[in-house]
Formats: sequence, structure tokens, C-alpha cells
Amino acid sequence: MSKAERTKKKVVLITGGTQGIGHGIAVEFLKAKYFAIVCARREPQGELFPGFEDQYLFLHCDISSTESRETLVKNIQTQVGHIDVLVNNAGIAPPERKDILEATEQSFEMVMKINLQGPYFLTQTLVNWMIELQKNYEKQDYHPSIINISSISAYTSSPARGEYCVSKAGLSMMTKLYADRLAEYHIPVFEIQPGIITTPMTRGVKQKYDGLIEEGLLPIKRWGTPKDIGMASVALAEGKIPYSTGQVLNIDGGFHIHRL
Ligand code: NAP
Repeated sequence: MSKAERTKKKVVLITGGTQGIGHGIAVEFLKAKYFAIVCARREPQGELFPGFEDQYLFLHCDISSTESRETLVKNIQTQVGHIDVLVNNAGIAPPERKDILEATEQSFEMVMKINLQGPYFLTQTLVNWMIELQKNYEKQDYHPSIINISSISAYTSSPARGEYCVSKAGLSMMTKLYADRLAEYHIPVFEIQPGIITTPMTRGVKQKYDGLIEEGLLPIKRWGTPKDIGMASVALAEGKIPYSTGQVLNIDGGFHIHRL
């Protein structure tokens, strides 16, 4: 697809869209006729989105590196030319689960840089560009938005991966801050808090969560899927929840409900 053809489509950037939740989000945006940009540290093996071969672009980026983020944005500007939706999805679990009484500062820094600092400053750069782009579009033609993929860990204590919980709680505050600041530009900022989702990230804890779900942890007794998160993301980006910003969607099988 030529740059001119890409320019006619709505464009979504999904960080970490090469697997898991990000991949599911990208598929739903592709089905909704968006041009999708996905970025990650590792080059994908094989065709990422069969059936959508020329509808997307993979760009290399380590979200935790300032330089790498700058290159990403420059590449989007030159190769695509505009952006409608940013989905801050890329994230990691701590490389090793360690009790909060023993966990290392090194792991804390790594998780915070990828899960919070990266999206915080990528958002800063991209919304400044969105504000510039708004000047070139008729208001009715351009409705940018931001979606942050945080987690139930934003409010649920897991002392064996405290740095992850803190990073996701930070992402929740980031949602509020940008929602507040960008309302005057009519750029809504949303947050999705996924529950327990089948992805490569949760492969190692499958048995544990299978057991907890079986025992009744969730009102909706199943694992979530990347498609569940993708469908919610498209609904938000398409303005299906108007007069709203800073809103949190719990896509978690009902995990967030306090129950007796
Ligand atoms: P995943 O399967 O491990 O996929 C993570 C994606 O992020 C990959 O594409 C990965 O690609 C990319 N990524 C990781 N570090 C990156 C970096 N520094 N720069 C750029 N890309 C990076 O994880 P997932 O389960 O889909 O999780 C996606 C998001 O949902 C994460 O933020 C996670 O915290 C959140 N979440 C997941 C669950 C769950 O149950 N799975 C629940 C709640 C929230 P590379 O490794 O090649 O860079």
C-alpha cells in the first residue's frame, strides 16, 4: 500500500503488537479497516497478520529507549504521515518473580522503564503531533484517542511482583493526567484493565490460574482472550463511549467486583 493510500485510512499504533494482547488488538483494528502499525524489540517471524498483508507496518522499537522512540515516531511520520490512535500495550512482567522483601532495584528500574516511562513519554511525543495534525484537518474528520493497557494489577496486590503492580498503578494515574490535559483538544484517553488473558506472558502461570478460575476466582468462568481486549479497544477508538475521558474499562470476567 502506498503512502498516499495509507494517508486515507485511520492509523493506529499498537506498541508490542507482535504477540498476545497487542496482536489481538491489531487484528480487531485491521478488521475495522484501520492501517495498523505494530512495534516491538524482536523482528516477527513469518506473516504477522495473514489476510492483511499490506494493511500494516512493523517497526522496530524498544519502548524503554528515548532514542528508539524518537526513531519510531520519525519513521511513522515519513512512512505513514499521520496517526489517529495510540494503544500503549507493550509491557513486561518482572523477569523473575521475587518477594517484595528481596526484589532488586535493577528489576524495578527495568519494569518501570518499559511499562511506565516508555508509554509516558511516547504519549507525550505523539499527542503533541496529534495537536499539530488537528490544525490541518477539518474537526469532523479527525478524532484522535489514546488507550492505555494497564492491568487488574493496578489495584491488586501481588507482593511477588510488586514492581509490576506499581508500574500499572502508575499507568492508571498517567491515564488520568493525560485525560485531564487533553480534554481541551478533544482527545479522549482511556484505560483498559485486562484480567487474566491467554498470552505468551501468562503461559508459565497457566496451571495456577486454571485452578483459581475453576475454584471461582472469576464470575465469568474463563480466561480472557486478546480478542476481548481488541474488541473493547476498537469500541473506544470508534467513539462508542462518548462524553467520557479517563474512563477505565474492566475487561476481566468480573474480577474487580467485591464479592461475598
Ligand atoms: P506478551 O505476550 O509478553 O507480549 C508483550 C509484547 O510487548 C510483545 O510484542 C513484546 O515484543 C512487546 N514488548 C515488550 N517489551 C517491549 C519493549 N521494551 N519495547 C517494545 N515492545 C516491547 O504480553 P501480553 O500478555 O500480551 O501483555 C500485553 C500488555 O497487557 C502488557 O502491558 C501486560 O502488562 C498487559 N496485561 C496482560 C495481562 C495478561 O493476563 N496477559 C493481564 C493484564 C495486563 P518484544 O518482546 O519483541 O519486544
